[in-house]
Amino acid sequence: AKNNGRNRIQVYGDQMESPTADTLVLENDLYKALERNELRLHYQPQFDCATGQITGAEALLRWEHKGKLVSPAEFIPLAEESGLIVEMGAWVLREACAKAQAWRSRTGWPLRIAVNLSAVQLDQADITATVAQALHETGLPATALELEITESVVVRESLRAADILTELRALGVGIAIDDFGVGYSSFAYLRELPVDRFKLDRSFLSAVPQSEGDSRLAAALIAMAHRLEVGIVAEGVETEEQNAFLRDHGCDEAQGYHLGRPMKDDAFEALLVQHAQE
Ligand code: C2E
Ligand code: CA
Ligand code: CA
Ligand code: CA
Repeated sequence: AKNNGRNRIQVYGDQMESPTADTLVLENDLYKALERNELRLHYQPQFDCATGQITGAEALLRWEHKGKLVSPAEFIPLAEESGLIVEMGAWVLREACAKAQAWRSRTGWPLRIAVNLSAVQLDQADITATVAQALHETGLPATALELEITESVVVRESLRAADILTELRALGVGIAIDDFGVGYSSFAYLRELPVDRFKLDRSFLSAVPQSEGDSRLAAALIAMAHRLEVGIVAEGVETEEQNAFLRDHGCDEAQGYHLGRPMKDDAFEALLVQHAQE
């Protein structure tokens, strides 16, 4: 993948004006960023809806490129296309597990860390070994790691996905279905998957509680997860009204700007230390 990236830059080097060339330049810079350790993880806290306690954090990739933060929504697709995501994803796993384990031992808090996995990573024959190695190298207990896989991926790759999830879960890690609810048709299928949690997509919460229809739908999805004996985390909690709604409807956990933005590692550590002392 590395060499590919470089060769393609040379091939298209005389077309620097076109958007395609811009993309390739970005792709090449991304490769260098990984090599030079310029990628960072931010951590967004997750809270128990009933008690307000911190339960975990989601690790989110950040790339500071020429003084600007490039959104992962922009560079993850590039990394997937070039195959760089495999190496990048392995780094994310190691880094997130190492930080989580350091924080757990420093504070004694049973923190869980959530890491996003791309479809391309899931397709690697050695994905289970990569995850096992990150746990082994960092000493993080498998039960403290949760892998987030988007619903669309699981559905698209349906046959193989169930096997891989079963294999990963055998390590002891948790599996969360990200952006849950966006791909409606798959409820019957999702029920059969070996998963621990659903992450309710934030689109379901944006008009809660003003919209009665949306509020009923969100409540129904929470109830459905519980009927299936799967935990549920709501994403994109931006107001206290939404937070109260989730608590009142028995949602397990919540994550969002209202509760805590994604933050740098030292800021998250400070938050956790304070939280553990309360
Ligand atoms: P995601 O996994 O659905 O992550 C949640 C996104 O929602 C994050 O965007 C987060 O910053 C944002 N968010 C959190 N709370 C709120 C809120 O209250 N309101 C709103 N409007 N947004 C909120 P971010 O960090 O820009 O990441 C975008 C996407 O990039 C992620 O969506 C995920 O799909 C992908 N991504 C991020 N890090 C990684 C990674 O390490 N590996 C892979 N494969 N994908 C990643
Ligand atoms: Ca996620
Ligand atoms: Ca999500
Ligand atoms: Ca998403």
